[in-house]
Amino acid sequence: MKWILFFGALIGPSICGREKFFGDQVFRINVRNGDEISKLNQLVNSDNLKLNVWKCPSTFGLPVDVLVPSVSLQPVKCFLESQGLEYSVTIEDLQALLDKEGEELQHNERQERSSNNFNYGAYHSLESIYHEMHSIASDFPDLASRVKIGHSFENRSIYVLKFSTGKGRQRPAIWLNAGLHSREWVSQATAIWTARKIVSDYGKDSAITSILEKMDIFLLPVANPDGYVYTHTHNRFWRKTRSLNPGSSCIGVDPNRNWNASFAGEGASSNPCSEVYHGLHAHSEVEVKSVVDFIQEHGNFKCFIDLHSYSQLLMYPYGYTQKKAPDATELDKVAKHAAKVLASLSGTKYQVGSTSTTVYQASGSSIDWAYNNGIKYAFTFELRDTGQYGFLLPADQIIPTAEETWLGLKTIMEHVRDHLY
Ligand SMILES: [Zn+2]
Repeated sequence: MKWILFFGALIGPSICGREKFFGDQVFRINVRNGDEISKLNQLVNSDNLKLNVWKCPSTFGLPVDVLVPSVSLQPVKCFLESQGLEYSVTIEDLQALLDKEGEELQHNERQERSSNNFNYGAYHSLESIYHEMHSIASDFPDLASRVKIGHSFENRSIYVLKFSTGKGRQRPAIWLNAGLHSREWVSQATAIWTARKIVSDYGKDSAITSILEKMDIFLLPVANPDGYVYTHTHNRFWRKTRSLNPGSSCIGVDPNRNWNASFAGEGASSNPCSEVYHGLHAHSEVEVKSVVDFIQEHGNFKCFIDLHSYSQLLMYPYGYTQKKAPDATELDKVAKHAAKVLASLSGTKYQVGSTSTTVYQASGSSIDWAYNNGIKYAFTFELRDTGQYGFLLPADQIIPTAEETWLGLKTIMEHVRDHLY
């Protein structure tokens, strides 16, 4: 018993119980036309193959990434070859990447415990991120505060950091959101890096200083805390919330199909087992409802930015229709400028456009809800990479990703500052 406890303490309790992916691979499949898209949809929708789609078939010929379990490798290859679909294997040994990530995470948490220092170039547990949010607020009490905006389905606190120099006045505000999809780990990591960047650069960098002279910033680094914990303890590739679905054994709702913006329309599923299940009704997910209530009660948000990964895209409304948003011309200009500034740091290329014309139609998304509720400057980032590692982006890319993203975020926030309405 003692030995078990000792061993448990040594390797940490979280990762050992997690689902294993021995022999599983990630395939990249090229689709060139509607016929090939429908063949591919047939493949990914066949329940017995147990495929996990990392990057959905899009209408615009972007490649599709799919996690193929070892038992399905032969049937999938067979199908692709017989249908004449081009493919390559992007991740040959998925479990090796997972093992490496897990070992690094645990090694880092041991080091952080002994040095009492948060390493921004590493991935973290929810507990560590929440602890660091508390530290940022206590290090800069005049600038930052940690605010609880609600709780998750499994009763975890949902915290935002508020950055304000306004002393009580209700200023126009910016919402920075991350981690709606729990497996997109670089988004939560970028968000917490961004929080520290804001407090460190205030008073030194003229852009962020002048933004905070006029506006408040609210940053939510882990919008889906239950899902995030689940990616650490059970399944690294969990995307949805962890709520129960009455009448189904499948768990969770896609929290980026659950907003009241053409809810249950194109690009969302009514099947609780689907990765894009929209839920029973709009805002059924308490994590989404908490943000909606907070933003509506505040009443003066001018900008809403949602961080996801991966694909290197910067998108604006609409997702639920191919129609142009009334402000599309301005949003496109701002996004193109932000992508250009982002790329100036290390050449990372982003594609820019409206969600529906860049990837695929998706109803019930966060930025469409924000836009339809009077928040004109609404953008989604899909951060690094373009699929080499996908959701398993190595930790040594966290800081380069966060640094370049910061340039893009600042460009957008400066535009908002100069175009308050
Ligand atoms: Zn996402």
